[in-house]
Amino acid sequence: MRKFKTESKKLLDLMINSIYTNREIFLRELISNASDAVDKLYFRSLVDDTVKINRADLCITVGFDQEARTVTVSDNGIGMDKDELNKNLGTIAHSDSFEFKESGLDKPGLDDVDVDGAPVADVDIIGQFGVGFYSAFMVGKRVKVISRAYGSEEAWCWESDGVDGYTITAAERAEHGTDVIVFLKDDTDEETFGAFASEQGLRGLIKRYSNYVRYPIQMEVTKSRMKEAPADAGDDHQPEFENYTEVETINSMIPIWKRKKSEVTDEEYHEFYKTDFHDFEDPLRTVSLHAEGTLTYDALMFIPSHAPFDMWSKDYKRGLALYSSGVLIMDKCEELVPDYFGFVRGVVDSADLTLNISRETLQHNSQLRAIARRLEKKIKSELDAMCADDREAYVGFFKEFGRTLKYGLYSSYGMAKDTLADLLLFYSAKQKKMITFDEYIADAPADADAIYFAAGDSVDRLSTMPIVTTVLAKGYDVLLCDENVDEFCMMALADYTPKDSAEPDGSTKAWQLKNVGSEDLGLTTEEEKKKAEEATEENADLFQAMTDALAGKVKRVAVSTRVTEAPVVLTTEGAVSLQMAHLLKEQPGSDEGVPEAQIVMEVNVEHPVFQVLQQANAAKDAQKVEDYSRILFDQALLVEGLPIDDPLGFSERISALMA
Ligand code: ADP
Repeated sequence: MRKFKTESKKLLDLMINSIYTNREIFLRELISNASDAVDKLYFRSLVDDTVKINRADLCITVGFDQEARTVTVSDNGIGMDKDELNKNLGTIAHSDSFEFKESGLDKPGLDDVDVDGAPVADVDIIGQFGVGFYSAFMVGKRVKVISRAYGSEEAWCWESDGVDGYTITAAERAEHGTDVIVFLKDDTDEETFGAFASEQGLRGLIKRYSNYVRYPIQMEVTKSRMKEAPADAGDDHQPEFENYTEVETINSMIPIWKRKKSEVTDEEYHEFYKTDFHDFEDPLRTVSLHAEGTLTYDALMFIPSHAPFDMWSKDYKRGLALYSSGVLIMDKCEELVPDYFGFVRGVVDSADLTLNISRETLQHNSQLRAIARRLEKKIKSELDAMCADDREAYVGFFKEFGRTLKYGLYSSYGMAKDTLADLLLFYSAKQKKMITFDEYIADAPADADAIYFAAGDSVDRLSTMPIVTTVLAKGYDVLLCDENVDEFCMMALADYTPKDSAEPDGSTKAWQLKNVGSEDLGLTTEEEKKKAEEATEENADLFQAMTDALAGKVKRVAVSTRVTEAPVVLTTEGAVSLQMAHLLKEQPGSDEGVPEAQIVMEVNVEHPVFQVLQQANAAKDAQKVEDYSRILFDQALLVEGLPIDDPLGFSERISALMA
């Protein structure tokens, strides 16, 4: 028996004894090796006339024996001679594969490659980037490799229990190629290794991980058919069934993303999308990309028509499937799409990403990042085009995924502004439809330099609110924001620079985003200001009495400069609006310490109700001033769609008034 090299032993240990649960990938690894071996022979046949093979016969065969508990992966590829068996399977071919582990699989810093969002441990990294032949020992207690090198008459058998050594003995094999026979481990309470030795089990794994391997992966499968009825069978003959076996090619070989776009129909893309991503509906858009250069890859991405039901749950995982030459490396590679495009489904396939553990993870990451940047641009331009050319579809898209874009802006503190801001749609109070910031600006009066918005719980309610109607009356549009995230998103954005905004001097003008509920919109004329100042002076003691009546609720009571039908309007000073204060209060765990809105109750001094208040104040009827102030305040909250503190008190005061 020959001993494994120390470093091989370390890796074997790591693999076999790790808590690594994704053991099924051993089949992918063995099939990839088989495919490489067939590749090698194929390429040799192209350059060497003495290599006489029928290329159409090249294939991989997967077999199993339920009773003997074995799984076999065979190929008719290049094979290995005795030396190669010794060299390739007795040690780890690339010395740097160990540096990889030693250099800090388990140190922080390399941990941004994370499968399925699980906490990153060394074992996960192994799972992602291929573990090669040794993975057979994750499921096998013994592995036998029978190989005959192309052009050689001899065959050899390599055998090991994966503990400390292996043997190589003479063997028989009819043809060039390799059989890897895995003797499955005994079943335990946690794991039924025996399940791998079944047609169903293997078929599923081949489909899942190796569906697009270039060579046919064949398996002998058992089928059932109806026996032919005997010639003399009567009418009451019961049909009989018999089993027979047939060799079936399990994989579909040519991946759809490798085919020329012009040769694939929309139906085919849609079928692929629906099957592979488990959707009942056709995608809204199909985006394909073929990149060549330092990194060559194909990407096929889909924008779904509807958000999956779990899109907003914590468990939702974004990411594209990552393939290396048709072999699945990872189901959902998060690094390939940013959070805010997390709804995009699809695949990326690059031959430049090897499956090998010996690759430096960091290098991998920079490759992934380069791909991700390019994909992001591609998705962005697809959405831009849809927004410009097919508004109906885009509005539909935005209804489903607009929130994702807005959260992206908010959670990145506005850093994704360049990518996302011009993709946003908001409801225009003036145009009564969803519009972009650019459309708002294009339609704005010549003197406008701000984008006005109002936040509340419904477009219908918002469009009747005095703070909105007064701005509209002055000729400015107001964007009505009815989603919780809207106001936070606007805050993160702060301003918007239109796409083609170069001023004559080449500078760009940023438009401030202004909440119409915040006090100073800068829309008041000098004359209006003067009038307000006079009214403030004249009614100073009434305003004081009203402020006292609303102690703890409003910061102050002031004269409104907004032309409005309503007796009062609530506005805020500072960053926290009424809606936002309400949302923050509703957050779980926010009993203390949430910022309060600094409310100003603006009074319409032209309104008859104000005259009633003036009279009550002149008559020194403090109770009436208090009751009326409180009714006005509560009413204004109700108009905004916000809850009032004391509904019973409110209703009592109204009843008293009516009686
Ligand atoms: P690698 O990542 O290089 O494939 P493996 O540990 O999986 O690492 O395999 C080591 C080497 O063994 C391969 O590089 C290849 O030369 C050889 N090998 C493995 N399987 C086969 C096979 N089925 N046919 C021929 N050679 C093989």
